Amino acid sequence: MSAPSHGRTVRYGPWVETSFKALKLVPELLDVVAQLGYTQPSPIQEAAIPILLAGHDVIGQSQTGSGKTAAFALPILQQVDLENRKVQAIVLCPTRELSAQVAREFRKLARAHPGLAVIELVGGQPSRPQRDALERGVHLVIGTPGRLLDHLQREYLDVSSLRTVVLDEADRMLDMGFGEDVGRILARLPLRRQTVLFSATFPDSIETIIRKYQKEPYRITVQTPKSELHNIQQLQLVAGPKERLHALAWLLSEHPHESALVFCNFKATVSEVVEHLGAAGLSIDRLDGDLDQFHRDQVLARFRGRSIRILVATDVAGRGLDVTDLDLVVNLELPNQPEIYVHRIGRTGRAGKKGLAISITSRADDARLESAAALTGQRIKTIQHDADNDIGLPALLQGLTAPAEMSTILISGGRKDRIRPGDIVGALTGQSGGLSGDQVGKIEVQERLSYVAVARKSAPAAVKALNAGRIKKMKFRATLIG
Ligand code: AMP
Repeated sequence: MSAPSHGRTVRYGPWVETSFKALKLVPELLDVVAQLGYTQPSPIQEAAIPILLAGHDVIGQSQTGSGKTAAFALPILQQVDLENRKVQAIVLCPTRELSAQVAREFRKLARAHPGLAVIELVGGQPSRPQRDALERGVHLVIGTPGRLLDHLQREYLDVSSLRTVVLDEADRMLDMGFGEDVGRILARLPLRRQTVLFSATFPDSIETIIRKYQKEPYRITVQTPKSELHNIQQLQLVAGPKERLHALAWLLSEHPHESALVFCNFKATVSEVVEHLGAAGLSIDRLDGDLDQFHRDQVLARFRGRSIRILVATDVAGRGLDVTDLDLVVNLELPNQPEIYVHRIGRTGRAGKKGLAISITSRADDARLESAAALTGQRIKTIQHDADNDIGLPALLQGLTAPAEMSTILISGGRKDRIRPGDIVGALTGQSGGLSGDQVGKIEVQERLSYVAVARKSAPAAVKALNAGRIKKMKFRATLIG
């Protein structure tokens, strides 16, 4: 194995048969993973857990869905001292959404840790309750850089007992402009600590952080098991920049889809697509860095709930985006790095289903597409735009105006109000709500609000029932958001 410039390299994957027992986890945690149905560690877990338990710094290359959260959460849980109500580990995440996902995974894995206090310190929420919780004492902090730094600078966050800091999706954190905040946070943490970094890609800015803040890290590169991509058919369609929209409309009509994700490299392209196709009446919305967190959450909930059929996103906004069940991913512009290509298309073809990934390319993209194909271990088939049988852009668009099957309702209460998905189903169905079970779709209960998808034609009745009725004996406001 050749020594990289910084750190030692461990390569793992594809998936090999090992058990969690071999990873030196304590019996309590072995029981928990077994209860959760994790029968064997994922490659990143197998590689990272023993190294993290031994106290080393780690650089992990891995993506959402690889099991990376448990890879760092299990060692942290194994080492946390419940008697000491001081912060022992901090996980930095680029978005509130990822913080919530990480916190969820920690809480799931913490069944054998009664009394463990985990707090999320994220922006867009009042600071005061966070401060109060910190005063009462917490063991683990998960948060976004801005808010975390704020608490650190005001000295509400005592880091004297900190052992481990994790930078999750570090590349994305830097993309979003959090570089300076991350540096300031790291500079305030005790020097004797473990620094763990996860990233999908390694631009120079990440290498700089690694050199500055890590000590002899182990690099763990998990090769994306090619078998995970085998359900995805990869196609290429050549079209010049001026014909791109037309090509996209043609593809969308050729390949019927319920949920399609369209990736662009630039916000300007996202706007162009959404404006044109939206004006033509398609069920489409955007996800780019300009959206504030509230609207971003709403768009994602609507997309996951199938009340938007086409979502157009940039990588920065779309990464870490936790959507499964996509039938189609389109690259309207090819990404610069092959890893990002794999990342984008890996959103489809999950859970044994067939997926389709189509890249609209220009001739200048050939080399880039070739290296992407090499990474997936598959050939990318070229398809031709059949101009003779093309009915023209306006007619194509007209054929694509079928509305999404569902509508999404926002409810003004969440976990804080002890609402659970079953309570929402209860309020909507039976005598109180009048809907049948199959008219209720995806339900997401968040901290202070919830989203529920209902069959489009039942949406007005559902909003009425929710506003007239009660959930957990309390009144909440229900609003149709799309
Ligand atoms: P992550 O990559 O951390 O976002 O994890 C993806 C999903 O896989 C999460 O829902 C985890 O709960 C789940 N998961 C993590 N580790 C395992 C495992 N060893 N076996 C099965 N599922 C897992």
